[in-house]
Amino acid sequence: MARERIYLDYNASAPLRFEARAALLAALELGGNPSSVHAEGRHLRSLIEASRDEVALLVNARPADVVFTSGATEANVCVLSQDWDTIFISPVEHDSVLAPARIRAKTAGSHLIELPVDGNGLIDVAALATVIAAGKRPLGRALIAVQFANNETGVIQPVAEIAHLARQHGVACHTDAVQAAGRLAVDFAALGVDTLALSAHKLGGPKGVGALVVRDGFKLAPLITGGGQERRRRAGTENVAAIAGFGAAARAALAGLTGTARIADLLANLERAVVEITPNAVIFGGGAPRLCNTSCIGIKGSQSEILVIKLDLAGLAVSAGSACSSGKVAVSHVLTAMGAEPDAARGAIRVSLGPHTSAAEIDTFLSAWRTIHELKPEVRQRASGHFETSERAAQAALAMGDK
Ligand code: PMP
Repeated sequence: MARERIYLDYNASAPLRFEARAALLAALELGGNPSSVHAEGRHLRSLIEASRDEVALLVNARPADVVFTSGATEANVCVLSQDWDTIFISPVEHDSVLAPARIRAKTAGSHLIELPVDGNGLIDVAALATVIAAGKRPLGRALIAVQFANNETGVIQPVAEIAHLARQHGVACHTDAVQAAGRLAVDFAALGVDTLALSAHKLGGPKGVGALVVRDGFKLAPLITGGGQERRRRAGTENVAAIAGFGAAARAALAGLTGTARIADLLANLERAVVEITPNAVIFGGGAPRLCNTSCIGIKGSQSEILVIKLDLAGLAVSAGSACSSGKVAVSHVLTAMGAEPDAARGAIRVSLGPHTSAAEIDTFLSAWRTIHELKPEVRQRASGHFETSERAAQAALAMGDK
C-alpha cells in the first residue's frame, strides 16, 4: 500500500484549499466573457469583483487598487520594469525582482544599488538611509523593492520603516508580500508602500494567478497592453475561474490567520528537536523575526539535494535551500548574501508548514530526521569502513534499506 505523503513545502506551493477548489470548478462551468454586457458576461464580472473584494480585504487595500495578474512573477516584473532611473534592491529578493532589475540596469542604464543584508538576511535601515542620502548623482525616478518575508528563510523585513524612509526621499516602494500574505496580517494601507505583489497558490489558491496592489494615484505603465481589462492596467481576458479560486482562498486565508500561533508552536518544536538530534544544525535567519511556518535548516557536511531525496523516500516533501541546475548544486543566493558558511549552506533544506500540518506529521519528520542522521549501532557493525560524518552514515543506512 502506498505510504501517506506528508507535505512540508507550503512556501513552494500550498495545496489547493477546499473553498478555492469549489469556487474554481464552479466558475469553470460558466461561459461568456467578463467584458460582455449580456447577462453571462455580467455574471462573470460579478465573480471577478467579488474576488477583488476578498483579495483587497486580505491585505487591507481598496478593491479598486487590486489588479489581477498571472501571478506574483508578473506583478514583480511589472513594477521592476518601469522607467526607473535608480533601483534599490536587496540581494535576498526573489528572482522575479532581481532579474528585471538587473535587466533594466543592463539595457536601460538604470542605476542599480544592491543593499547589503546582515547575517540574518535583514536590511539595515540606518545603512539604507545613509546610502540614499549619500547618492552622488540625482536619484531621478527611484524605487526600493523589499520583500515582506523571504521564501527560503521566512525572515521578515522592516517594510513599513523602509517605506517611510523611501517616502521621505521621494522614492517609490514595492514589496513582494507573496510569502507573508495569509501567514501574518498584511496591511497595505498601514505599510505605506506604493505597490505590493501577491500570489494565489502560496495561500491555497490555484497556480497562475496573483495580484498587484497599486496605491491610488500611483503611475504604472501596464506590462501587458492590448486591451482595457483591469482598468487598463493589465490587458487580456481575465482568468475568471482562477480569480474566483484566488478570492475564495484569500477569504479562507484571512479567516485562518487566527490559527498561526498553532503553526508557530509546531515549528518551534520541530527546530528544538532538530537541534537536539543534530547539534551541528544551523537555523538560517534564526536570530530575526520570521514567518510562523518556515525553517531553513543547514547541516554542515551534508548535501541538501541528498537530504531532500532521503526525506522524499521517507514520504516527506521538503525543498532544498540550494538550487540544483545542470546537475550542479549551487548554494542559494539568499544564504550566500547572508554570509552563511558555504559548508552549512550546501546542506540547507527548507521546511515550510501550513494550516493542515499536524503534530503527528512533525513527529514523523523528526523520526525520519533521526534515522537519516543517526548511525544505529547494528548498521555500524554491518557497514565496513569508518564513517566520519553522519551524512555518510545515513547513506549507508539507506543503502541497506535500514529506514
Ligand atoms: N516572490 C516570492 C517571494 C515567491 O516565493 C514566489 C514563488 N516562488 C514568487 C515571487 C513568484 O510567484 P508566482 O509563482 O505567483 O509567479
